[in-house]
Amino acid sequence: MSTEKKFVASPESKAKAKQLRLFAILAWLVAMAGQIFAIFKLISDEMLTYLIIAIVVILILALVGSTLWKKANRLDPASEKDKVKFFIQNQLGAIMGVLAFLPLVILILTNKDVSGKTKGIAGTIAVIAMLVAGIAGIDFDPPSIEKYTEQINEQTDVVKKLNFDNDNVYWTKAGNRYHIFDDCQHIRGRDEINNGSVKTSWDEKGISELCKTCQNRAMRDRNISEEDLKVLETPMTE
Ligand SMILES: [Zn+2]
Repeated sequence: MSTEKKFVASPESKAKAKQLRLFAILAWLVAMAGQIFAIFKLISDEMLTYLIIAIVVILILALVGSTLWKKANRLDPASEKDKVKFFIQNQLGAIMGVLAFLPLVILILTNKDVSGKTKGIAGTIAVIAMLVAGIAGIDFDPPSIEKYTEQINEQTDVVKKLNFDNDNVYWTKAGNRYHIFDDCQHIRGRDEINNGSVKTSWDEKGISELCKTCQNRAMRDRNISEEDLKVLETPMTE
C-alpha cells in the first residue's frame, strides 16, 4: 500500500454542497408550510381533492429535498467518527420525509368532523406518501470521508499499475469517471478537461471511478492482466 491519501473535499465541492443543502432545506421548509396549510385548511369532506393535491405537492418537495441533500453529502461527506452526526447528516432526508407527513396523517385520522370515507381516502394517500418520502430519503449506502479515503487509496494503486506508476488522470466537469488517456472517446473534444491525481478528482467531484474503456485500453496496450489488478480490486461503491 502507498502512503494513505486522505479525502478532503475541495473548497468548490464544499461550496456546491452548501448550495445544494440550502436548496434542500428550502424545499423542506415549503413542504412543512404546505403541511401546516393542509392541516388547517384542507382536512374536510369538501376539500378532499385539494388535500390530495397538497399531499402530492408536499411529496414532490420532500423528494426534491432528499435528492439534493444526498447529492450534497456525496460532494462533502461526513466523518464516521462522530456516529450521531454521521447518522443525522446521512439520513436527514428520511427524517424530513416522515416529518413532512406524520402530523398530517395523525390529524386526518383523529379528525372528528370528516366522514369515514374521507378519512379512509386521505389517510391512505397520506400514509403512502409518508412511506415513499421516508424510504426514498434513506441513504442506504451513505458516503463518508473514511470510505472515500479507502477508495482513493485503492484506486490510486490500480491507476498506477495501469499507468506506468503514474498517478495522473483526466476528467470532465459533468462525467463521474476519470480517464487514463486524455484522448479517450468519452472525453475527447470536451471544452474543459481537468487533470491531476486520483485523489484530486475525488476531492473535486466526490464519488468517482475509472473509465472502463481506459482501463481495458491500458490493460491491452500494456499487457496487464485481470489477475495483476485483482489483487487490489474491491467492490466499487455505487
Ligand atoms: Zn476513458
